[in-house]
Amino acid sequence: MHRTVATGDSAAEVAMVDDIKPSIEGRAPGGRETSGESLHSSASVQLARAVEAAGISNDIYEILARPERELVVSIPVVMEDGHVKVFTGYRVQHCSARGPCKGGIRYHPDATLEETRALAALMTWKCAVVNIPYGGAKGAVRCDPGTLSQEEIKRLTRRYTAMIIPILGPKTDIPAPDINTNGQTMAWIMDTYSMFMGYTVPDVVTGKPVDLGGSLGRREATGRGVAIIVMQLLSRLGYLASEVTIAVQGFGKVGGAVASILDNEGYKVVAVSDVSGGIYNPQGLDIKDVSRYVYSPEGIRLLKDYEGKGVEHITNEELLTMDVDVLIPAAIEGQITSKNADSVKARMIVEGANGPTTSEADSILRDKGIVVVPDILANAGGVVVSYFEWVQNLQSYFWDLGEVNQNLARIMTKAFDEVWHMSQERNVDLRTAAYILAVKRVASAIEQRGIFPY
Ligand code: NAD
Repeated sequence: MHRTVATGDSAAEVAMVDDIKPSIEGRAPGGRETSGESLHSSASVQLARAVEAAGISNDIYEILARPERELVVSIPVVMEDGHVKVFTGYRVQHCSARGPCKGGIRYHPDATLEETRALAALMTWKCAVVNIPYGGAKGAVRCDPGTLSQEEIKRLTRRYTAMIIPILGPKTDIPAPDINTNGQTMAWIMDTYSMFMGYTVPDVVTGKPVDLGGSLGRREATGRGVAIIVMQLLSRLGYLASEVTIAVQGFGKVGGAVASILDNEGYKVVAVSDVSGGIYNPQGLDIKDVSRYVYSPEGIRLLKDYEGKGVEHITNEELLTMDVDVLIPAAIEGQITSKNADSVKARMIVEGANGPTTSEADSILRDKGIVVVPDILANAGGVVVSYFEWVQNLQSYFWDLGEVNQNLARIMTKAFDEVWHMSQERNVDLRTAAYILAVKRVASAIEQRGIFPY
């Protein structure tokens, strides 16, 4: 059966849903190659590998390889100068077998249906690997927020929300912030949804401002989760905090938080970077000073202009191939590729970003004996605290920060242990182990529920 999904603005973006399933040998015929290997292609290869390793039936694979539902909307917005501009938006729900779909909404000029689809599937595996009762979803609007006024972003957000309301809801699909969206965006989505329902529905989104029912600890949750995983890995491999060197690519919500938390825990963070380049000090950077500099009261400042005692300026490429114990790519996808994987000298990589390593690079790293903790485990802290926010909203009962962080640590540590054991038991790398665990959980839910109407 072929189902055609049109995005509204370009024939090039018409996807045949039957074409998006990779062959089980690990090729991804539907993946449109953009810059090298696409996120979609890497995710598809990974799923095919896990399905094979986990002994999942082809029937279940047929289901898991496709999203459950996709909605493409054309969003008319009255711009500040009075003319109307039409944007394309997406919401993809990959799988609701284990609970409501959950996933961020990003505003980006390069967003595509294919990328949104890949990210929705990643959310399914992420929620399953940390064993929280959600399936995966993702949303996106193709726009450049840098060229839009706040008022235009608000109108865009409200109209996009109104157009995807038929598939949103606290029991069906719960968005959260992603690239270029934030607590304010979630507040507008929550308000728009509530206006349509006729009553206030805080639990329709997570990542809200705390005053609107957001959870304490949500902002730094992903970085905290990455830090917990780094510490678990190091202790498992017998490293002492004082002897470990760490490099972090990206100094945003994830990278900035993980660098600060690891620095506070006594680890030596020797290099960090942002889009403008990186800074390095073999004796360890003064992360508190770097944070104060970057997150100045006047706004975010770039690391290329940072000056500090003993600090050397480096490129992002140099950071990625630096001789450190732990490398944390926490910026954007597709950073470790077949082109630079051979030069990576880190002993361990913990993926803070989504999809920072292409599957080709992954094989090279595996052959080099580098331990890689995959994104679906390492950066799941954000969705775990989103889950806490949703639970708090459903109960109208709020936790203190200690309770949030304690529960986050419990869930991340348990998930790490489970993935580690799976990796030992099957003699596979941690990424394959995490996927096996996740795919088995989702497959089991589908099998136990049965295929409606059977
Ligand atoms: P952010 O926008 O807050 O920060 C991104 C950082 O990366 C910034 O320091 C930016 O300067 C830097 N950067 C951007 N382009 C770069 C490039 N080409 N080279 C080097 N550095 C670059 O974003 P974030 O929320 O920290 O997200 C980072 C990654 O983590 C993304 O892949 C995101 O999908 C993933 N992630 C985020 C969360 C979350 O809760 N924020 C949760 C899970 C996964």
